[in-house]
Amino acid sequence: MSVPQHLKEALEVLKETGVRMTPQRHAILEYLIQSMSHPTADDIYKALEGKFPNMSVATVYNNLRVFKEVGLVKELTYGDASSRFDFKTSEHYHIICEKCNKIVDFYYPGLDEVEHLASHVTGFKVAHHRMEIYGECPECSAKEAH
Ligand SMILES: [Zn+2]
Ligand SMILES: [Zn+2]
Repeated sequence: MSVPQHLKEALEVLKETGVRMTPQRHAILEYLIQSMSHPTADDIYKALEGKFPNMSVATVYNNLRVFKEVGLVKELTYGDASSRFDFKTSEHYHIICEKCNKIVDFYYPGLDEVEHLASHVTGFKVAHHRMEIYGECPECSAKEAH
Protein backbone atom coordinates (compact mmCIF):
# COMPACT_ATOMS: atom_id res chain seq x y z
CA MET A 1 0.00 0.00 0.00
CA SER A 2 1.17 3.53 -0.75
CA VAL A 3 1.61 6.33 1.78
CA PRO A 4 -1.61 8.15 0.75
CA GLN A 5 -3.58 4.90 1.05
CA HIS A 6 -2.17 4.15 4.49
CA LEU A 7 -2.90 7.71 5.55
CA LYS A 8 -6.45 7.55 4.24
CA GLU A 9 -7.12 4.32 6.12
CA ALA A 10 -5.57 5.68 9.29
CA LEU A 11 -7.74 8.80 9.06
CA GLU A 12 -10.80 6.60 8.71
CA VAL A 13 -9.86 4.62 11.81
CA LEU A 14 -9.46 7.84 13.77
CA LYS A 15 -12.79 9.13 12.53
CA GLU A 16 -14.52 5.90 13.52
CA THR A 17 -13.02 5.98 16.99
CA GLY A 18 -13.99 9.63 17.41
CA VAL A 19 -10.45 11.02 17.60
CA ARG A 20 -10.44 14.66 16.55
CA MET A 21 -8.11 15.38 13.65
CA THR A 22 -5.81 18.38 13.99
CA PRO A 23 -3.14 19.62 11.56
CA GLN A 24 -0.46 18.43 14.03
CA ARG A 25 -1.96 14.96 14.31
CA HIS A 26 -2.18 14.76 10.56
CA ALA A 27 1.49 15.76 10.17
CA ILE A 28 2.68 13.32 12.84
CA LEU A 29 0.76 10.48 11.27
CA GLU A 30 2.02 11.32 7.81
CA TYR A 31 5.61 11.50 9.03
CA LEU A 32 5.27 8.17 10.79
CA ILE A 33 3.88 6.47 7.69
CA GLN A 34 6.51 7.97 5.41
CA SER A 35 9.56 7.34 7.53
CA MET A 36 10.57 3.73 7.59
CA SER A 37 13.01 4.47 10.38
CA HIS A 38 10.90 3.85 13.52
CA PRO A 39 11.42 7.36 14.89
CA THR A 40 11.40 8.48 18.52
CA ALA A 41 9.01 11.23 19.65
CA ASP A 42 12.06 13.51 19.58
CA ASP A 43 12.87 12.63 15.95
CA ILE A 44 9.30 13.47 14.96
CA TYR A 45 9.41 16.70 16.92
CA LYS A 46 12.65 17.76 15.20
CA ALA A 47 11.25 16.92 11.78
CA LEU A 48 8.06 18.95 12.33
CA GLU A 49 9.07 21.82 14.61
CA GLY A 50 9.68 24.11 11.63
CA LYS A 51 6.10 23.61 10.53
CA PHE A 52 4.57 23.81 14.03
CA PRO A 53 6.62 26.23 16.15
CA ASN A 54 4.21 25.92 19.09
CA MET A 55 4.41 22.15 19.25
CA SER A 56 6.42 20.52 22.05
CA VAL A 57 7.91 17.03 22.37
CA ALA A 58 5.20 16.34 24.95
CA THR A 59 2.51 17.16 22.38
CA VAL A 60 4.09 14.75 19.93
CA TYR A 61 4.26 12.08 22.60
CA ASN A 62 0.64 12.61 23.66
CA ASN A 63 -0.53 12.31 20.07
CA LEU A 64 1.49 9.14 19.61
CA ARG A 65 -0.24 7.73 22.68
CA VAL A 66 -3.63 8.51 21.15
CA PHE A 67 -2.61 6.69 17.97
CA LYS A 68 -1.34 3.81 20.05
CA GLU A 69 -4.62 3.53 21.95
CA VAL A 70 -6.62 3.13 18.76
CA GLY A 71 -4.11 0.57 17.47
CA LEU A 72 -2.58 2.58 14.63
CA VAL A 73 0.86 2.76 16.12
CA LYS A 74 3.08 0.39 18.00
CA GLU A 75 5.48 1.58 20.69
CA LEU A 76 8.80 -0.22 20.76
CA THR A 77 10.52 0.08 24.11
CA TYR A 78 14.16 -0.79 24.58
CA GLY A 79 15.13 -0.63 28.21
CA ASP A 80 16.03 2.90 29.23
CA ALA A 81 16.47 4.20 25.67
CA SER A 82 13.56 6.31 24.51
CA SER A 83 10.70 4.57 22.78
CA ARG A 84 10.55 4.24 19.04
CA PHE A 85 7.27 4.33 17.14
CA ASP A 86 6.15 2.16 14.29
CA PHE A 87 3.12 2.69 12.12
CA LYS A 88 1.25 -0.57 12.29
CA THR A 89 0.96 -2.14 8.88
CA SER A 90 0.98 -5.90 8.74
CA GLU A 91 2.61 -7.87 11.54
CA HIS A 92 6.38 -7.89 11.17
CA TYR A 93 9.60 -8.41 13.06
CA HIS A 94 12.61 -6.18 13.56
CA ILE A 95 16.33 -6.51 13.06
CA ILE A 96 18.36 -3.91 14.95
CA CYS A 97 21.86 -2.61 14.29
CA GLU A 98 23.87 -2.55 17.51
CA LYS A 99 26.20 0.09 16.09
CA CYS A 100 23.81 2.78 14.82
CA ASN A 101 20.50 1.57 16.34
CA LYS A 102 18.79 1.43 12.97
CA ILE A 103 15.67 -0.77 12.98
CA VAL A 104 14.73 -2.58 9.78
CA ASP A 105 11.46 -4.45 9.19
CA PHE A 106 11.33 -7.99 7.97
CA TYR A 107 8.38 -10.24 7.37
CA TYR A 108 8.16 -13.76 8.64
CA PRO A 109 5.12 -15.89 9.40
CA GLY A 110 3.91 -15.37 12.98
CA LEU A 111 5.52 -17.67 15.50
CA ASP A 112 2.22 -19.25 16.53
CA GLU A 113 3.77 -22.66 17.11
CA VAL A 114 6.20 -21.21 19.62
CA GLU A 115 3.31 -19.53 21.42
CA HIS A 116 1.42 -22.82 21.56
CA LEU A 117 4.44 -24.67 22.85
CA ALA A 118 5.11 -22.02 25.49
CA SER A 119 1.51 -22.20 26.61
CA HIS A 120 1.54 -25.99 26.62
CA VAL A 121 4.70 -26.41 28.69
CA THR A 122 4.02 -23.61 31.18
CA GLY A 123 0.22 -23.51 31.44
CA PHE A 124 0.28 -19.77 30.67
CA LYS A 125 -2.42 -18.12 28.61
CA VAL A 126 -0.29 -16.50 25.93
CA ALA A 127 -1.10 -12.90 25.01
CA HIS A 128 1.65 -11.98 22.56
CA HIS A 129 5.34 -12.36 21.93
CA ARG A 130 8.26 -10.21 21.02
CA MET A 131 11.23 -11.25 18.91
CA GLU A 132 14.12 -9.13 17.75
CA ILE A 133 17.26 -9.95 15.84
CA TYR A 134 20.43 -7.96 16.55
CA GLY A 135 23.54 -7.41 14.49
CA GLU A 136 25.40 -4.97 12.30
CA CYS A 137 23.74 -3.29 9.32
CA PRO A 138 25.38 -3.29 5.84
CA GLU A 139 26.20 0.45 6.13
CA CYS A 140 28.05 -0.02 9.42
CA SER A 141 29.86 -3.08 8.07
CA ALA A 142 30.95 -1.09 5.00
CA LYS A 143 32.23 1.75 7.19
CA GLU A 144 34.35 -0.65 9.15
CA ALA A 145 35.89 -2.21 6.07
CA HIS A 146 37.43 1.14 5.05
ZN1 LIG B 1 24.25 0.31 11.56
ZN1 LIG C 1 8.66 -2.00 12.09
